[in-house]
This record gives sequence, structure tokens and C-alpha cells, in this order.
Amino acid sequence: MSMKLLIIGGVAGGATAAARARRLDEHAGIILFERGEYISFANCGLPYYIGNVIKSRDSLLVTTAEAFKARYNIDVRLFSDVIGIDRTRKQVKVHDIMTGRIYEESYDKLILSPGAEPVRPPIKGSDLDNILTLRNIPDSDMIKAHVDGGKHESAVIVGGGFIGLEMAENLVNRGVKITIIEKLDQLMAPLDPEMSAMVLDHIREKGIGCYLNEGVRGFSENEGRVTVHTERDRNIECDMVILSVGVRPENRLAREAGLAIGHMGGIKVNAAMRTSDPDIYAIGDAVEVRDFISGQPTMTALAGPANKEARVAADNAMGGKSIFKGTIGTSVVKIFDLTVASTGLSEKACRHNNIPCLVSYTHSNSHAAYYPAAKMMAIKLVFAPSNGRVLGAQIIGMEGVDKRIDILATAIRGSMTVFDLEELELAYAPPYSSAKDPVNVAGFVASNILNGDVRNINWDNMDDLDPEKDVIVDLRDKRELNETGIIPGAIHIPLAELRRRLSELDREKNYIVYCAVGLRGYLAHRILLQNGFKSKNLSGGYRTYSAVVK
Ligand SMILES: Cc1cc2nc3c(=O)[nH]c(=O)nc-3n(C[C@H](O)[C@H](O)[C@H](O)COP(=O)(O)OP(=O)(O)OC[C@H]3O[C@@H](n4cnc5c(N)ncnc54)[C@H](O)[C@@H]3O)c2cc1C
Repeated sequence: MSMKLLIIGGVAGGATAAARARRLDEHAGIILFERGEYISFANCGLPYYIGNVIKSRDSLLVTTAEAFKARYNIDVRLFSDVIGIDRTRKQVKVHDIMTGRIYEESYDKLILSPGAEPVRPPIKGSDLDNILTLRNIPDSDMIKAHVDGGKHESAVIVGGGFIGLEMAENLVNRGVKITIIEKLDQLMAPLDPEMSAMVLDHIREKGIGCYLNEGVRGFSENEGRVTVHTERDRNIECDMVILSVGVRPENRLAREAGLAIGHMGGIKVNAAMRTSDPDIYAIGDAVEVRDFISGQPTMTALAGPANKEARVAADNAMGGKSIFKGTIGTSVVKIFDLTVASTGLSEKACRHNNIPCLVSYTHSNSHAAYYPAAKMMAIKLVFAPSNGRVLGAQIIGMEGVDKRIDILATAIRGSMTVFDLEELELAYAPPYSSAKDPVNVAGFVASNILNGDVRNINWDNMDDLDPEKDVIVDLRDKRELNETGIIPGAIHIPLAELRRRLSELDREKNYIVYCAVGLRGYLAHRILLQNGFKSKNLSGGYRTYSAVVK
């Protein structure tokens, strides 16, 4: 008899698993249950549909139930909410939302891909009409209708994560005045604070009000307008609130069926994506998987892992042997003119997990500086002190960020070291890169640290300097100082004058040298060292320092 596979959830993970399962077994009975009206829609495109960047609603529908049935011979059941799993009898209970009928369906294997739902914190007024969340097409229809109606001139976005910031950009582009309220002390929680500070500067430049370290106490309504009451007693009146304070795995079905749930609330799975029941697999935003680097359980609400896990689960459900080795959480997001990307572990995640790490900062041009329109990108590399293994990277810039983060993500998956990054032979012509690609440069600088060619100090250690013993030296030109300012207490010796002015320096002192991005600092450090002075270079230079120290 042919095997019968049921899949719960018909979007990123569910639809992928269904298609893979069909390719593996032409004769299996495959049923896909989706609570909503659509399968396989582009949730990642929703902010851009609201922003009118994606003009056609139909283009969000990657496929339809009919097309999926025709191509893959899969029984797609829309408006079908699976409300229970009886593991002993291997049956699921389904609520047909359109007819109200409740029926059972048996399975040989079951794949759960129910996703994650936006968190609606239990604060006063969070159920008011104009307080919206964004997960699916009906949600985006609702937000878009508010904006299209033309009456919504201002909005508060609660939560400065990637969905909140994408919504901020798209609503600003629609003429809506935005204020962001974020409970943490930074935007984009996966980033380290000094990198996130660059994002904050950028969105403020775009006219967005942003309050950090500020939670929301409640909401109230008056004549169709909402007032957001913050924990610091700010009252912000607006026409609409977008709540984007994170997502919570939809684990109810799994929990009620007695499947093991991890401590973060996700469904527990092994590397085969199998749950604690050998006939049930789970994938996507609802599961806890292994962090590829730390080996700890983690949750990533990202489409890439969901799709890969789906393939693994389908392979195994159909009798194969596939393994999901873990996630490194590679992500990229457009925030107005910036591209903000990260992969692997941040410095703070390393510290949280007691993983020893060193970091380097580099600022490189996206392509050869002499070819028009090169843009600087800031790269933070996180690597192991023992062997230089790349643990993580964060990049912020306007051009070429996406390809560099993908190279570094590949390096992490290949367990490569910063020494390997030095050697990578990457495509170069002036419009695309430099003969030393920004990834090579990040590798050179990190290798210099490990080899002892340079002793660095990071922005967050500058407060620990002792004015009696430590002397900060600004190596930039006068013009640069006038344009951007100087670190308080620094003396000014332009790099070009340093050799000539060594006699002014005191061999008993420690010299902390810095320039704009770190290169001239490195050169000065080498000059000082080889002339018998003690020195350290401020990693990432004034650009990294001033992004976070205001
Ligand atoms: C606005 C937005 C933008 C995003 N942008 C990006 C991006 O740029 N890059 C990126 O990598 N990721 C992005 N994501 C995240 C990405 O969409 C998710 O990680 C991915 O969709 C997860 O896939 P999934 O199958 O686990 O869940 P989903 O795709 O959410 O699918 C779950 C489906 O299961 C259905 N369901 C749940 N329970 C039941 C039940 N009991 N019975 C029947 N059906 C059920 C739900 O209705 C839902 O349709 C974005 C998400 C959103 C909301």
C-alpha cells in the first residue's frame, strides 16, 4: 500500500516539504492542510507590497492550491485548521473552517510546519482595532487598506527588529510619519551594539523618531486615533500601531499531543527533523534546531532554514536519510539606503555562551575607490582566538554587502579560519570589487591580530584608559578632524608627521593611535612599535568608535 503523508501548514516549510515528498514518491498520498486562504505565499514580500514596491498582490502568491495540485498531485485543503493529533491512532482532527465540519484523517507520517505567530503582549489596549501585526496576506491587506485610505498620517512601530524596520521604511515611503519604540537598548537585537548604532543613525537621518530602552505600558483610543503610553510616561498619538515585538512558535498542537518542547518553546527535533515521536517531523519557525557553531538549541524565524529543514524532513519521512546540520542564522535586510547583514555568532552571543572570541573591524570600499560610486561598508568579524576559526560576521553598507556576507556564511559552514579568508581568490574588476576584496581585508586584519602584528583596542575598552599612562593620538588630517570631531583628550599628530615627531613622545607612556577606519592606525602602530614605543591601534578607527560613543 502507498504511504500517506500529512503536512500541517502550507507556506514556506510545508509547501516545500510537500513538493519534495512528491518528487521522491509519485504514489504516496500527500495531504497539505492550511488554516488560511493561501499556500506558499511570499510573507517576506509583504512589507514591500504595503509600501507599493511590489505593485501586484497576485505576485505574492508563489503558487495557488490549484496549480500545486496540478503540478504535484497534492491534495491541498485550504481553510483547514488541524486542531488535534491522536498519536496512538495516528489520526489528526481537522476543522473545516468554511463548513464547520470536523473530521479525522489518518497518517503514516506527519510533518508539522505551523510557523510562528506575532507576539501580542498582554498590555492594556493591545486588542484595539488600529493595533496591527503582520504575518500573512490578510494582515497586509488590513495595513495596506489603512494606508491606502489616506487617513493614516502617522504610525508607531513597537519593536525595532527586522520586520519593524522593513515596515518603517515602507510606511515612510508611503508618506506615513513613523516613531519606533524599542524596549532594548538597541535596534536589531542580533547585531552587536556598535553595529546596530549605525542603523539607528541612519533611520534617524530618515526622519524617524526612535526611543530605545522604552517599553510600552498600554494603548488607548480616542476618536479613531491611538495613544501609545510608554514606560517613561511618554504619550504618543498616532493613527495606527504596528506591533512587531517578535514571534512565538505555534507549538500548541505539538504540546497537546505530548511531543517534547524545548526550553525556548520550540518543538524539539533531532538532526533528522524528527520530533520525540518517530512518525512525526517538525520544521520551520516552530522548531528548535542546533546552532551550527555553539551546538546549543536555537530558533531562527528565517525562510532559508525552513526550506532546508523541509527538504530534510521530507527525505526522512519518505524513508531516506538526510541530516540538518544546524543553522548559522544568516540574514540580510534592507533599511532605506543600508543593507544590514549578519551570519554566525555575534560577539555578545559568544560571551553569553562562554565561547572565547576576538573581533576585528574593517571599513572597505565596495569596489575600487577610483571607479565611480564606491561605497564604504563596515565589517565586524568574530573569530576564535585559538585557531582563527570564523565564528560570525556583521556587515553594514550600501553596496556589495549581500555578496560579502554570503562569502563569510560559506566560510563559517566550511569551518574556515581568518587565515583562509586572506587567501580567498575572489572575482575582481573595478566596478565589482578591489584586488583585495573587503573579505580579504577583514581576513588580513584578523590575522594580524592573531599573529601579533598589531595590538588592538576596541571601542568598548576606551573608557578603561588611564590618563596618567595612556595617550590617545589622532592620526588624521586636520580637515577630517574638523569635519567629524575628535576623541576627547586625544593629541593630534597626522600620520605623515609621525616619524619626524617621535622625539615628542615619551617611551614610558602607552600610545593609543587611531585614524578614520584603522589602516593609518595600523601603520602608525608598526612605526611606534619598531621605534621602541608601546602602542595599540583603535580597531575600526573613529568611524566605529563614533558610531556608538556619542
Ligand atoms: C513580514 C515578514 C517578512 C519576512 N521576511 C523574511 C525575510 O526577508 N527573510 C527571511 O529569511 N525570512 C523572512 N520572514 C520569515 C519567514 O517568512 C519564515 O521564517 C518562514 O515563513 C517560516 O516558515 P514556516 O513554514 O515555519 O511557517 P509559515 O511560513 O509561517 O507557515 C506556517 C503556516 O501554517 C499554518 N498553520 C499553523 N497552524 C496550523 C494548523 N493547526 N492547521 C493548519 N494550518 C496551520 C499557518 O496558517 C501558516 O500559513 C518574514 C516573515 C514575515 C512575517
